[in-house]
Amino acid sequence: VLERLIKADKLQVVSHLAASISHEVRNPLTVCKGFLQLSSGAQEVSPKTKEYLETAIKELDRATEIINDYLTFAKPISEKKNKINICEEIQNVVNILNPLAHMNNVQILISGEKTDSLFTLGEKKQLEQSLINIMKNGIESMSKGGVLQIGAFYENPNILIHICDQGKGMTREQINRLGEPYFSTKENGTGLGMMVSFSIIRNMGGIINVESDENGTCFTIEMPASRG
Ligand code: ADP
Ligand code: MG
Repeated sequence: VLERLIKADKLQVVSHLAASISHEVRNPLTVCKGFLQLSSGAQEVSPKTKEYLETAIKELDRATEIINDYLTFAKPISEKKNKINICEEIQNVVNILNPLAHMNNVQILISGEKTDSLFTLGEKKQLEQSLINIMKNGIESMSKGGVLQIGAFYENPNILIHICDQGKGMTREQINRLGEPYFSTKENGTGLGMMVSFSIIRNMGGIINVESDENGTCFTIEMPASRG
């Protein structure tokens, strides 16, 4: 119990910090990148300098990615809740992630109910962020490519969203650490994606379950359905 408490404390500190820096930091990063791109495109630039500028741009991109993972935290939590059409959102995030999937030899398949009658309450952008973070991990777990499945189902009174990959899976210890700030097994990981996902779904009154073995990982998001 004590360990849980400490974990929750840490999470609060992290999200406060994120809220205060996220917006302030994004703008200067964008401006810097713009000027570096301009400089790198100039005719009088030597190949060596161009290489330095490209490296600087890459590092800026990485910083922006970290900010992106935080961004949903920057909004005050428990804003107004709208009705979200789940199948529409799934289609949206699949469209967003398809290019990344292609680059990794991953095919994204939509299964489950393709109806216009699955709704939940919350903020569209936040649900999208949460799904994207989980799906990105799925794509990244399949180093040799494979299939990523996502599907939504109604199970009275809840909506279940399954996200299953054919990746390398996680050990028990890794599963236990999921959602812990900065926990990452990746060379360039931020260890923030799952923390953000868990926090968003919890804020929507839902929970996330994980099943994983050496053949892949299945995340199941369970959240209250909203009626008509
Ligand atoms: P990051 O992706 O930056 O490492 P995340 O918070 O998104 O941070 O994920 C934390 C860790 O959880 C990952 O580094 C990875 O070890 C593990 N993980 C999450 N999802 C999966 C998955 N689908 N398959 C295998 N490992 C996963
Ligand atoms: Mg991730």
